Amino acid sequence: PGDPLNVIAVGCVPEPGAPRLSAVPGLPDDAYEHDGQLTKRPVRAATLAALAPAPGELLWDVGGGSGSVAVEWMRAHRGCRAVSVERDPGRAARIGRNADRLGVPALRVVTGTAPHALAGLETPDAVFIGGGLTTPGLLAACWAALPAGGRLVANTVTLESEALLAQWYSRHGGELLRLAVAHAAPVGGFTGWRQAMPVTQWTAAK
Ligand code: SAH
Repeated sequence: PGDPLNVIAVGCVPEPGAPRLSAVPGLPDDAYEHDGQLTKRPVRAATLAALAPAPGELLWDVGGGSGSVAVEWMRAHRGCRAVSVERDPGRAARIGRNADRLGVPALRVVTGTAPHALAGLETPDAVFIGGGLTTPGLLAACWAALPAGGRLVANTVTLESEALLAQWYSRHGGELLRLAVAHAAPVGGFTGWRQAMPVTQWTAAK
C-alpha cells in the first residue's frame, strides 16, 4: 500500500486478498472503473507487449474507452507519457479517474473525435487504436503521424474493421493476430468455456 504504481514493492507484503496492482501489464479488469468498454486483461497484456513501451516515450491511445491501455503504458516505466483521445465526454472523465487512482495522474485526456482531435498533438512514438477504426481517415492519420520506426497497434472485434486491418497488413506487413480467449464458467453443476468475441490485432512498425 502507499504507492499505487507498485503495490507489490520489494519487501512489501500485500494484505491477503488485496488486489495485486503490478507494474507488469494485465491488471485485473476490476482495477478499473468501466462501463464494459474495456480491453480485457489477457488482450490488454498482449496489446502492451506489442506496443513495447520504453522510458520517455509518448503513446496516443485513440478511442480511449476506460483508459486502460494508456494507464498501463504509463505504469510500465516512470517517464512514459500518454494521451487518450475519447469522443464520449463521460468516458473521457472516467479515464481521468482511472489514471488518478492507478497512480498516473499525468495521463492527458483529450475529449474529441479522431482524426480531427489528433491535430496539433505532439508526435507519438507509438499509437494504439482501440476504437474508431471505421471513422474515415482515422487509420491513415495515425499512420501518417508516426515517425520512422514508430509502432502502431490496432484492435477490433468487428468484421468491417478487420477487413481494413487485413488490407493494411497486406500493404505494410507486420503481424496480424486473432486472440480468442475463453473463461471457465458454471454450466449447470459443471464448468464450461465461455468464449469472448475474438479480437483481431494488427501490429506494424513504420
Ligand atoms: N481500449 C479501451 C477500450 C476502447 S472502447 C480500454 O481498454 O479501456 C472504444 C472507444 O472508442 C469507445 O469509448 C468509443 O467512444 C471510442 N471511439 C470510437 N470512435 C472514436 C473516434 N473516432 N474518436 C475518438 N474516440 C472514438
